[in-house]
Amino acid sequence: MDLNTVEEVRTPARREDVWPLGPADAILAGGTWLFSEPQPDVHRLIDITGLGWPPITLTDNGIELAATCTLAEVARLSTTLPAQRPDWAAAPLFRQCCTALLASFKIWGTATVGGNICLSFPAGSMISLTSVLDGAVTVWRADGTDYAVPVTDFVTGQASNILEPGDVLRAVHLPAAALRARTAYRKLAPSPLGRSAVVVLGRRATDGTGFVLSVTAATVRPYVFSFPTTPDSAALRHALSAIPDDAWTLDAPGDPDWRRAMSSTLAEQIRTELS
Ligand SMILES: Cc1cc2nc3c(=O)[nH]c(=O)nc-3n(C[C@H](O)[C@H](O)[C@H](O)COP(=O)(O)OP(=O)(O)OC[C@H]3O[C@@H](n4cnc5c(N)ncnc54)[C@H](O)[C@@H]3O)c2cc1C
Repeated sequence: MDLNTVEEVRTPARREDVWPLGPADAILAGGTWLFSEPQPDVHRLIDITGLGWPPITLTDNGIELAATCTLAEVARLSTTLPAQRPDWAAAPLFRQCCTALLASFKIWGTATVGGNICLSFPAGSMISLTSVLDGAVTVWRADGTDYAVPVTDFVTGQASNILEPGDVLRAVHLPAAALRARTAYRKLAPSPLGRSAVVVLGRRATDGTGFVLSVTAATVRPYVFSFPTTPDSAALRHALSAIPDDAWTLDAPGDPDWRRAMSSTLAEQIRTELS
């Protein structure tokens, strides 16, 4: 839709030209959310896609996804990674998580990793992906400094996160150790390509040590549980019981009680699959 309060669109080409940012400015990435509803308080858009960040940087340490990397580019990693890094068993998870978003192929080609994480919706599938893979975001501050923080600490609740006014999410790093793990994926949504109601992901190190389970979409922020070895059913259930009652998402795709029950069922399936 037209944003008829916007008077200027700026496309900085260098970091120092991003600022100053004021209360009537909004960072524009893919624009799939920004242009999907009225933004009466926004008068200026700062288009960060002109900064020329390489969407995906692969090193022996892992993968850096630029904030401007599109979902289509993320999904493609599931096809390209096996040839480039055959030992990174987590490759299928990239595409799987992209399908955990209510989105047509047009959205996939435009929506970005950074936009998805910054919206911090429970059904943010890039939050699901990066939480279970030990992702850490790098944030640029207006004063020229950066900080890095785990994705699980970045998202604090339903559509809330730790970004301060003027902060720009630059990238998310996924460490190689997590990428080498076998993964399992479960998603429940009202329709095959619908917004996710429950996303439960698992990761188990290929040497058998270390088991990680994440719950997203069902909860207002990501919950990630780490175990030194694969837990038994009781230990897994006990871990999930630590999720507070008010952390289960309440919206159209499902009630909190149902999400809690389904998360437990799917977690057990993942435990069995990765055992
Ligand atoms: C039909 C439809 C279905 C959708 N389904 C889902 C869904 O299932 N799950 C879900 O999570 N979302 C959903 N969305 C919302 C949105 O499209 C996605 O979350 C998408 O990934 C947002 O990315 P974007 O690049 O388009 O963000 P934009 O629209 O460009 O920006 C989104 C917000 O993030 C801010 N922002 C963007 N990048 C940065 C950055 N690098 N640093 C700081 N702030 C930034 C913007 O200022 C804005 O407030 C849906 C949207 C539509 C229209």
